[in-house]
Amino acid sequence: MIDANLVKLMEHFGSEDKCRAYMETLRWPEGVVCPRCKSTSTSRVEKRNQYDCNTCRYQFSVTAGTIFNDSHLPLTKWFLAVLLLVESRKGMSANQVKRILGISYKTAWYLCHRIRAAMREVERPMLDGTVEMDETYVGGVQRGHQNKPGHGLSTKQIVIGIRQRGGETRFFHAEDAKSGTLAKYIRENISTDVDVIMTDEFNAYPSAVKETGFAGRHKTIKHKAKIYVDGDIHTNTVENAFSLLKRGIIGTWHRLSAKHLAAYLAEMEFRFNRRKSPYLFQDTLRHMVTASTLTFEKLTCGGKDAAA
Ligand SMILES: [Zn+2]
Repeated sequence: MIDANLVKLMEHFGSEDKCRAYMETLRWPEGVVCPRCKSTSTSRVEKRNQYDCNTCRYQFSVTAGTIFNDSHLPLTKWFLAVLLLVESRKGMSANQVKRILGISYKTAWYLCHRIRAAMREVERPMLDGTVEMDETYVGGVQRGHQNKPGHGLSTKQIVIGIRQRGGETRFFHAEDAKSGTLAKYIRENISTDVDVIMTDEFNAYPSAVKETGFAGRHKTIKHKAKIYVDGDIHTNTVENAFSLLKRGIIGTWHRLSAKHLAAYLAEMEFRFNRRKSPYLFQDTLRHMVTASTLTFEKLTCGGKDAAA
């Protein structure tokens, strides 16, 4: 998959000019707009790949005010890094990107964080139809000895998954899996006209669905009784999404810390919901070129946060 797209990438975006032209169509689909005064009256300064605003005289390029702004890396490398991150279904570590692009670890880390920050949903419509909900545990290096008091605390983190059959998936890093917490995720993500919510028999769900008014539309599959499918009652769809998530965490993110889990889940969700879409690459680049630098600084903790 990557190989075929890599050839296309080279054809379409093999030069700085081609990359820049593409970014212009993503940033200004209806024509160039001055980032300072929003004027649409601009002139092209051919030599410097810039525009000159006829209203406020601000000179700017397509990367002005975006995350590309302060980067010395060629756009062709940025584009390649985006392709690597969007096409690897399980994600890619900064170390892999470093090796493939032949750049320093620090630069690769910076690139990955900024691209990842763009790989998140801007809008998350409510899910309806048949919705499956489940919780799972990820990470979790057991520290110390379990038989010593105060040691052996699990660092496993709870991930809530909600998936509409034939629709989108949501992942959340939850503090706990108590019914109040589950109810909050139900309320925020499941439409009031949902047909049915499928869960396993985990005892926090009945009160969570009751609290949110879905009690009459809740079906349970009894995993403990080794029943995994009962007619149309199952949670296999959301579990499939979890299994990809876990392979990603194990394979790519050996030392994923709890602090970065939410960002990773957002990235997985973004990619997963677009796994069959031809616009994954384009959507990511568009987010990168339309979100302001400020937003990215916030998302990536100012870039000073040098964890794995
Ligand atoms: Zn202007």
